[in-house]
Amino acid sequence: ACVFSDVQSAPPIEVFLLNRLCAESKDPNKVNLGVGAYRTDEGKPWVLPVVVAAELQMANDKTLNHEYLPVAGLPDFRTAALRVLFGSEHKVITENKVEGFQGLGGTGALRLAAEFLKKILNYDIVYVSSPTWGNHKGIFKAAGFSQIKEYRYWDADTRGLNCAGMCEDLMAAPPKSVVILHAVAHNPTGVDATKEEWAQILHVCRERELFVLFDIAYQGFATGNLDEDAWAPRYFADQDMDLFVAQSFSKNFGLYNERIGNLAVVSKDASKLPEIRSQMEITIRVMWSNPPNHGARIVATVLNNKAYYEDWKGQIRTMSDRIMKMRHELTDNLKKLGTPGNWDHIVKQIGMFSYTGLSAKQVEYMLSKNVFMLGSGRISIAGLTPKNVAYVAKCMDEAVR
Ligand code: PLP
Repeated sequence: ACVFSDVQSAPPIEVFLLNRLCAESKDPNKVNLGVGAYRTDEGKPWVLPVVVAAELQMANDKTLNHEYLPVAGLPDFRTAALRVLFGSEHKVITENKVEGFQGLGGTGALRLAAEFLKKILNYDIVYVSSPTWGNHKGIFKAAGFSQIKEYRYWDADTRGLNCAGMCEDLMAAPPKSVVILHAVAHNPTGVDATKEEWAQILHVCRERELFVLFDIAYQGFATGNLDEDAWAPRYFADQDMDLFVAQSFSKNFGLYNERIGNLAVVSKDASKLPEIRSQMEITIRVMWSNPPNHGARIVATVLNNKAYYEDWKGQIRTMSDRIMKMRHELTDNLKKLGTPGNWDHIVKQIGMFSYTGLSAKQVEYMLSKNVFMLGSGRISIAGLTPKNVAYVAKCMDEAVR
């Protein structure tokens, strides 16, 4: 018999299934609101002009080659990524209390964090928000964490954050737990803590001695401002917390398939960084040995050139402005139709996504109209365009009536 004869199909990965269904659909009105990737007003992927400029420069640079990168990644990229995250004047940078490790996208940075926490620091319990990005649990499970727990986050009644519930759940966490916090533009809800709420969350993390792992996949997408969007991890670092921060450049550089991320390690004892680095390198060595060059080189080229850096900030603003505009247009269309219910949360939520509050049955109706979205009711606002937003609103209107 074939050794594979007992292999059963795994459940489909929802966003990739939606991509396929949308590609196969012949409906001229079809809309893909599944995948979290930026689209232009024409519904097309956008190669950032500053990325094209960096790639042209790289193509003409005869000093570059395809030798292996160091295990920890491209040095210019790693330091530049930390400056974007913390700002170059932050004390963790000026006091050399932070080091970055290049990962395969935000996912790879998270997996590296999970491996290190499990194998080097013996953590075994992780808390994730309810709900959270579809891959957090799987990444930690794959790294060997035996307990994956949830803290309350989304409040269905207010369509906002349940901060009291969140703090209560984290206060009840056993000693030596890891907590994953979305730094900004929470996926899937689009709901973030206020600065006052972050102070409460920090207090609980400190009280319970939780190890904080920030996931920052949307820096720049929420407000259009890199500094504002990194407020929470900077604040925690201000308060002398040991931290991991998993950065992704997939969204804010539009470099999805280049797999470019960075794991920032903040240690309040700077003298421990060499030992941490050596253990990180061993951990990386057995997973991907050393990381790919292209995306790291693009990001480093842009971040280390003043003119490119300014261009990049402008292009991030173009993306975040268009997303905010589509939030308003969707809400305006729903109001015009007199759609039952209150839809103000769509404008209040930030980042790439909106948690619409549509039920599973209502989502089914949307799918039947070839508006592709997650079963949880999450839509990627970036998939909306001036041409399709009225159709999406009409389908939502019909779905809830
Ligand atoms: N974390 C969150 C919250 C995300 O939404 C995503 C991507 O959707 C990631 C991490 C991973 O991003 P990457 O594609 O860089 O692995």
